[in-house]
Amino acid sequence: MIRTCALVGNQNSGKTLLFNVLTGLNQKVGNWPGVTVERKDGLIRGTTINITDLPGIYSLSPYTAEEEISRKFIVEERPDLIINIIDSTSIERALYLTTQLMELNTKVLVVLNMEDILKKKGYIIDIVKLEKLLGTKCVSISALRRTGIKELIDIIRNGDRLIPEAKDHHLFSLEVENVISDVSKELDENVSEKRFAAIKIVERDNRYYDKYFKERFEKEISALEEQFDLDTEQLIASERYNYIEKIRDKVITKTKVEKDSISAKIDKVLLNKWLAIPIFLIVIVVIYLLSVGLVGGATVGIVDMLFNGGDTIEFPMPWGSYEVSLGEGIMGLGPWLASCITNAGGSEWAASLVADGAVAGVGAVLNFVPQIMILFLLLSLLETSGYMSRVTFLFDRLFKKLGMSGQSLIPFIVGTGCSVPAIMGTRTIQDKDEHQMTVTLTPFMPCSAKLPIISCFVAGIFGGNYLVTAFMYILAIGVIILSGYLLNKFFIKRHSTNYITELPDYHTPSMSYVGKDVSEKTWAFIKRAGTIIFLCSIVIWVLLNVNYEFTYTTNVEESILADIGRSIAWIFAPMLGLNFSWGASVSAVQGLVAKELVISSMEVITAVGEGGDVFAGNGMFAFFNGFSAMGYMIFTLFSAPCFGAIGAMKRELNNSKDFWRAIIFQTGLAWILASLVGVWGALL
Ligand code: GDP
Ligand code: MG
Repeated sequence: MIRTCALVGNQNSGKTLLFNVLTGLNQKVGNWPGVTVERKDGLIRGTTINITDLPGIYSLSPYTAEEEISRKFIVEERPDLIINIIDSTSIERALYLTTQLMELNTKVLVVLNMEDILKKKGYIIDIVKLEKLLGTKCVSISALRRTGIKELIDIIRNGDRLIPEAKDHHLFSLEVENVISDVSKELDENVSEKRFAAIKIVERDNRYYDKYFKERFEKEISALEEQFDLDTEQLIASERYNYIEKIRDKVITKTKVEKDSISAKIDKVLLNKWLAIPIFLIVIVVIYLLSVGLVGGATVGIVDMLFNGGDTIEFPMPWGSYEVSLGEGIMGLGPWLASCITNAGGSEWAASLVADGAVAGVGAVLNFVPQIMILFLLLSLLETSGYMSRVTFLFDRLFKKLGMSGQSLIPFIVGTGCSVPAIMGTRTIQDKDEHQMTVTLTPFMPCSAKLPIISCFVAGIFGGNYLVTAFMYILAIGVIILSGYLLNKFFIKRHSTNYITELPDYHTPSMSYVGKDVSEKTWAFIKRAGTIIFLCSIVIWVLLNVNYEFTYTTNVEESILADIGRSIAWIFAPMLGLNFSWGASVSAVQGLVAKELVISSMEVITAVGEGGDVFAGNGMFAFFNGFSAMGYMIFTLFSAPCFGAIGAMKRELNNSKDFWRAIIFQTGLAWILASLVGVWGALL
């Protein structure tokens, strides 16, 4: 029975990772007695086998404390098995230690780690041959990709049967072997690692080479040194390397760098000259329909009701809208908290601050959580399956022309759902300029919170013409292309990099990886709602509900925000014409919290201040004609995004100059385009 094993290997061979994979969370960490080198112990998952992580070492010659600890541990504590992990992309260096470990009279299992990299580089190691040459059991794994782990655990469990007993393996020249064997015979019966000790004596290692052996063997050892013209320590090292080189030449073959046949067959279709782009578009449409359409349509109304209450839920499904009446309705978190505050004697403003400020603002972002989870899930599946790297490859040349990378495509797709995760997802772009460009341009993609602005104007001004909706998306792509061109030409001085990639084989996605990926990203999104959105919602609420005497007011017209709106309303003059409304600017400012607030704010303002209802065509919409509506839509869609996305931009750009440049560029470009449309309308 294998009860205890020691994990031994070079530094960076993946020891820590494998140890964690094998033990899960059952680990104890401490220090080796007398030395401050970390000692980790744990049970291999699902077994009672103890595994000890030894320090990373390159040989067993006691040059360093780590080597001494490892040797002592194996010799004195006698684990049942040595698990020797090696980096299979550099087996020569690793096998030096392996050959030494095999002299210790303990079973050795050789674990060839990083098979994923090996495979990517197009090499194959013949495990069966290696086993024969080394005379022990070998297994190939990837600690990172978790391949071969189950087999590894099986081998350890059945180590009695599957791993051969340690036996002397003669790898040196005959002359050296003869001396080693002479020394062995003289060793005390209770020295268990006879061969190891004998070799150390031949090397004149003074831990073993005592007076007794010196008297008996000095002559023999000196003769050997004379014969080879090397001291024995060098001689043994050099013969070890010779042996290892021979093994290496016999077991490693370089395959043609070629995808496996299944991947090649799939690529014949998916990367086909004519089919690649249409297939990609279909994939994207399906993803969009599933996440934003199906899941988004089914959940936004529900989550919104949980936060804000109400008696009807709207389900804007891809094939049509439904309204479900709940009779008495649900109170919702915001109104419930508000009533608690009022009941406890709190003032009206406190209740409104909590319900209309904090809860409504945070809720507006959390509405997107279900659809974003599905979006992340689908994208993560595509990514781990290997499809995304092909898409990236497919679009790389096109994006390079705009100063971006093929990897920019994914943020743009995610951006149709929400800019925040899209911007977070730009981190994989390594080139700094391409990254900056992608972060700046991603918010131009109309996210699903901007969709209500579009639909509302399309319904109110453009007679519900769907072509106008489609036009807004095409316009967004046009604006991205235009911006890429402008930034490339005038702002970002860039060197051209080439994205060369070896396309990986297709894989069945690893569920644990996908699960972790999705939950990490979703959590990062939720965290934003709890921090930046929360704070900004409160600030906007204060501006909207407090007047200059610092008293609470429900009359929007008296609010500080209205005054801010009036003072910046001139900005909107070119796009709205001379009868511009201060309400339009207030709504645009509120759009900074969450873009769907633009519409609800317009409703509130027209209801309170300027009379009528937005949807009746005589309220705020009375101010708009086709051109000014288009101009205003363009401004709210393309100017600085919501605070959530602004925060994400700040974090990704990680430098205030780049950040402000991006915000000013977005807002400036939006204003110019919107004004051009407005002025054009006025001139006609
Ligand atoms: P240690 O120094 O032996 O403890 O090695 P670590 O466990 O710290 O691993 C060193 C590095 O190699 C880490 O960045 C690991 O993520 C990486 N690594 C370990 N195993 C694998 C593997 O199977 N494949 C790949 N690609 N990387 C690995
Ligand atoms: Mg380590």
